[in-house]
Amino acid sequence: MLARLARHNGIWDIVVIGGGATGVGIAVDAASRGYDVLLLEQHDFGKGTSSRSTKLVHGGVRYLEQGNIALVMEALKERGLLRQNAPHLVSNLAFVVPNYDWWEAPFYGLGLKVYNALAGKYGFGSSEILTREETLARLPTIKTEGLRGGVVYYDGQFDDSRLLINLVATAVDQGATLVNYARVVDVTKGLDGFVDGVVAVDQEDGRQWTIAARAVINASGAFSDSVRRMAEPDVQSLIAPSQGIHLVFHASFLSADAAIMVPHTADGRVMFAIPWHGHTLVGTTDTPIETPTLEPRPLPEEIDFILETAGRYLHKAPTRDDVLSVFVGIRPLVKSGDGRLTAALSRDHTIHIDASGLLTTTGGKWTTYRNMAEHTVDQAADLARLAERPCVTRTLNVHGFHTNADRFGTLRVYGSDALAIRELMRAVPSLAAPLHADLPYTAAEVVWATRHEMARTVEDVLARRTRALFLNARAAAAMAAAVARLMGEELGWDRSRQAAEVAGFTAMAKGYQVSSA
Ligand SMILES: Cc1cc2nc3c(=O)[nH]c(=O)nc-3n(C[C@H](O)[C@H](O)[C@H](O)COP(=O)(O)OP(=O)(O)OC[C@H]3O[C@@H](n4cnc5c(N)ncnc54)[C@H](O)[C@@H]3O)c2cc1C
Repeated sequence: MLARLARHNGIWDIVVIGGGATGVGIAVDAASRGYDVLLLEQHDFGKGTSSRSTKLVHGGVRYLEQGNIALVMEALKERGLLRQNAPHLVSNLAFVVPNYDWWEAPFYGLGLKVYNALAGKYGFGSSEILTREETLARLPTIKTEGLRGGVVYYDGQFDDSRLLINLVATAVDQGATLVNYARVVDVTKGLDGFVDGVVAVDQEDGRQWTIAARAVINASGAFSDSVRRMAEPDVQSLIAPSQGIHLVFHASFLSADAAIMVPHTADGRVMFAIPWHGHTLVGTTDTPIETPTLEPRPLPEEIDFILETAGRYLHKAPTRDDVLSVFVGIRPLVKSGDGRLTAALSRDHTIHIDASGLLTTTGGKWTTYRNMAEHTVDQAADLARLAERPCVTRTLNVHGFHTNADRFGTLRVYGSDALAIRELMRAVPSLAAPLHADLPYTAAEVVWATRHEMARTVEDVLARRTRALFLNARAAAAMAAAVARLMGEELGWDRSRQAAEVAGFTAMAKGYQVSSA
């Protein structure tokens, strides 16, 4: 990618700032239309919110309750398109709403029928009212006291950072240039006062690039306002950041192929307990925060709230000692009023053009990244007077596309790339061994991520190419030395670089561990 950047002559059609779902989606869209695109990410692809979601490809039952039918319909259509274009990463999951009150079955039964009807031809399966016995058969670990029955409906589930890495590959396949560890530190302006490029610094060697662009798109999520202030220091904030945490437990807490959906927690939110990569993932919260950071921390009361809510529904209430990992994401919600009650703010996306001509696109959801990208590239092409070219991503396969990836077992998330990883294992059988008894990840995946997926640090491999850190933070820390050795062989790291990688990762993994109260 650096060589592509160095070879490039002249002005880029579009430069994108930020390598999360929004930015990478835009790079895929713009490159597949034939525009000349560069994307710059300050850390690793997906370091921000896009690796920290609840892992749902969904219309959002809650938005239906809020009456935002248009948003639900758009998201349900995008859910269907994503399953069609990335079947190796999106699966159909049954969600059960357990009922403890007489009115819940008819109320949620009707609401979820509407939810499915709104999906039209993109439906994932009809909802059904369940008896008590049927509910227990689907959710064997649910609290039985007072249980009357349940309602089952179907939605999508995915692996967020794996999809992102495959979208990076899709954009590259389409001719885009995407560079991680390249931080935009400033924008440049022409004589007319309009933004006409960016200044970026290579975070590995400190090199500085000045890059000219016809359109600059700010897709820096929760950091959008700080990028906008590079162009106009006095602009009003757009973003009301809010954090959400997730706790990950052993699979036995759910012991099911189905998820639990709690439609009303004590603070009026929705909460999910979901089977994910052989573990149980529970979340989330919605806590307004002042300033976004790349490694947000959970508040003790957020951890207590999730433990308490999970304990109300699960037969065996989880404790702090059961938490294998806690991870936190920041919602880049678009402000209204003083932005205090973030749970009520819209999840619609916003495209905002400042007087300087800097285009910011933010809000939205992972599920709707494709649609967001289509709208943004339409706007950017207008603004920069690029030749009009139609969007093609509705039917564009995501890199790794495979309709029967289940046959690759734990390598399913790589889709068609699983064959090349198996080939690595065949050539060097020692690469097939798992790196930790509690997780399925092998040395071959580390080599693959380093050679083909732009992984540059131990964290990139353990957090976003594999999901070790998000599933079991202590196990991930225990794998760090082996990962550093393998990456060191690929990238020519000496012993001191390997030791620094292990020390850095071990320290950051502590932030994903929960100590007893
Ligand atoms: C707790 C939680 C749960 C969620 N669950 C779901 C879900 O289940 N389903 C769903 O559809 N959506 C979900 N979402 C929403 C979804 O995750 C986000 O909408 C989406 O990830 C936002 O992507 P983004 O690219 O806009 O932001 P980000 O992923 O944060 O990307 C922005 C990137 O910009 C980079 N950047 C910042 N400044 C600079 C700079 N100066 N130079 C270069 N790069 C820079 C950052 O490093 C970052 O990587 C959830 C969100 C949260 C917080």
